[in-house]
Amino acid sequence: MNIHEYQGKAVLREFGVAVANGIPALSVEEAVAAAKKLGGPVWVVKAQIHAGGRGKAGGVKVVKSVEDVEKEAKRLLGSTLVTHQTGPAGKEVNRLYVEEGSAIAKEFYLSMLVDRETSRIAFVVSTEGGMNIEEVAHDTPEKIITFSVDPATGIMPHHGRRVAQALNLEGDLAKQAEKMVAQLYAAFTGKDMSLLEINPLVVTKDNQLICLDAKVGFDSNALYRHPDIVALRDLTEEDPKEIEASKYDLSYIALEGTIGCMVNGAGLAMATMDIIKLYGEAPANFLDVGGGATTEKVTAAFKIITADPNVKGILVNIFGGIMKCDVIANGVVTAVKEVGLKVPLVVRLEGTNVEQGKKIINESGLNVVSADDLDDAAQKIVKALRGGK
Ligand code: GDP
Ligand code: MN
Repeated sequence: MNIHEYQGKAVLREFGVAVANGIPALSVEEAVAAAKKLGGPVWVVKAQIHAGGRGKAGGVKVVKSVEDVEKEAKRLLGSTLVTHQTGPAGKEVNRLYVEEGSAIAKEFYLSMLVDRETSRIAFVVSTEGGMNIEEVAHDTPEKIITFSVDPATGIMPHHGRRVAQALNLEGDLAKQAEKMVAQLYAAFTGKDMSLLEINPLVVTKDNQLICLDAKVGFDSNALYRHPDIVALRDLTEEDPKEIEASKYDLSYIALEGTIGCMVNGAGLAMATMDIIKLYGEAPANFLDVGGGATTEKVTAAFKIITADPNVKGILVNIFGGIMKCDVIANGVVTAVKEVGLKVPLVVRLEGTNVEQGKKIINESGLNVVSADDLDDAAQKIVKALRGGK
């Protein structure tokens, strides 16, 4: 789960991390009131969307009067911001963050993530902040310093010194960096973050180290123990199909392709997506209905898939272990009867109660193509999608 910059900064502030003062605003009036309260003389008006690259797209403006705060707030609120991270459709700006302006002397990059290779929390730091870090990684990889923290010891003073050294900070600034590294680590582990990206981390002209941007993501499997974080969720930033799926506890992720998939088990779902690609098409979603899915859950899953206008064909691929094939078959039939079926459907059932499952499908009168195995199923749906060719 991702949150907005201003929320991320509030979380970091709880852990003592230095961030500029700021106030979120949902309207032009609120933005003006926020600017007056902050006092100036310099403010930054920042569009709050779940995507980076706002600066280049005009979503971050440094201004020097309350009138200009008002002008920028009017311009941004309700507008659609297209950045290199939003995709061509862009994102509508419904919230702003009005922040005290900082006089920047240097811009750095610092991020933390869970490194799957070492199973540890890793720091990534670079003196090349503010800009596109992917470009830095590509053109000048030597300017990116990465290290991980042993969970047995936790964060140690030497980690902080390493960051200070990587950023060429000395004296008091090095001390500030060491302190901040420990605070960021405490925030990351304390709130079960999966990603924390500060770009830029800046040194101000009066020698303060502060986080000017914050992109924060949380491990959704740990959200149950952070109700304060769950409360920050902004549903308008999420895919409505994924929100609907989460109500039924379905593991669903919307993708860009055209073949809707309903599969049980994450491994089989991945294999199904791979084989669709192998035959030249792309999956419209990842969907694992889980082991103990009910007819109701399967019906919900099927509805979510058919509601996606990109879906030009559906592949149901079930290996009934704990999951029973007749439950899946009933779910599919119920859903089709409710919402109709406008695209080809290929069903491959195998395992527990497979005969009953096939019988339910065959006697339903639905226009379903049945398949014998995964390979056959993938070929059949791709062929159906291409008009039988
Ligand atoms: P992003 O483009 O979505 O990553 O948004 P950022 O929050 O990183 O802001 C983009 C850029 O705006 C930063 O890299 C800074 O150069 C600039 N910026 C942000 N806040 C301030 C500020 O307080 N003062 C000044 N001078 N520039 C700022
Ligand atoms: Mn940024």
